[in-house]
Amino acid sequence: MNVLLVYAHPEPRSLNGALKDFAAARLEASGHAVQVSDLYAMNWKASLDASDSVVPPIGKRFDPSLDSKHAFENGLQSEDIAREQQKLLWADAVILQFPLWWFSMPAILKGWVERVYAYGFAYGVGEHSDARWGDRYGEGTLAGKRAMLIVTTGGWESHYGPRGINGPIDDILFPIHHGILYYPGFDVLPPFVIYQTGKMDQARYTATCETLGQRLDTLWTVPPIPFHPQNGGAYEIPALTLRDDIAPGKAGFAAHLG
Ligand code: FAD
Repeated sequence: MNVLLVYAHPEPRSLNGALKDFAAARLEASGHAVQVSDLYAMNWKASLDASDSVVPPIGKRFDPSLDSKHAFENGLQSEDIAREQQKLLWADAVILQFPLWWFSMPAILKGWVERVYAYGFAYGVGEHSDARWGDRYGEGTLAGKRAMLIVTTGGWESHYGPRGINGPIDDILFPIHHGILYYPGFDVLPPFVIYQTGKMDQARYTATCETLGQRLDTLWTVPPIPFHPQNGGAYEIPALTLRDDIAPGKAGFAAHLG
């Protein structure tokens, strides 16, 4: 299988750097082909702007969506964007690896998503009608592929528990899992989260690699997070709210789990 590891940490000698090397080596040892997009090493341009197309804006002003659509449809995207899209199409599984920074991904990785997820590639795909609202949330360009996060945090596991001060980790990661990965079609696997990284010594690092290795070995078999597909009948269209008989009494992120 083909695995794309998109990695966002500025320091190769960091914990994340070591885990990235471990993950790539483990996957390769299992016979998988691995490509790593090391965003800092690539000097990845994080900001989406008019220079993302090789031609000037099509209208009087730059329109981030419509110019993205035009560039994608006409082969006018900047080369770095097109290359990352090809890697995504090549991959059977995609891993996003990053330290949790301000309760989300580092800006360079968010910028990778914003630029690589072009209109027509990751959104604006498929028919909109009374029965369907585009190919998204379980359908789309990246359907059939698996995705997983490897995330490190400074906070403790209890800080991210159901009543923890930071909020539950599943809630914090929901916009990435559901909004960034499930939206263009990925089957999203439970994340691999390493908490309290300030307390990492050699023994814990070895144990962490052991557990991570087992997770990577089950990349193809572990059941995905059971989000409801948008066009599978769970949602009213066009309101796109859950039907009353689905997850009755539940609201918020957890209601979208089957
Ligand atoms: P490093 O700092 O490189 O290493 C962590 C520990 O692992 C160190 O003790 C190091 O000695 C050890 N280590 C490294 N490599 C190895 C190795 N090969 N073998 C054994 N031990 C090793 N945390 C939160 O919980 N929530 C937040 O919202 C949040 N926001 C942040 C925002 C910013 C801007 C920053 C800078 C940090 C934030 N943090 C937050 C903390 C952050 O998540 C952690 O600092 C990060 O996850 C640690 O990962 P690292 O790769 O940088 O670790």
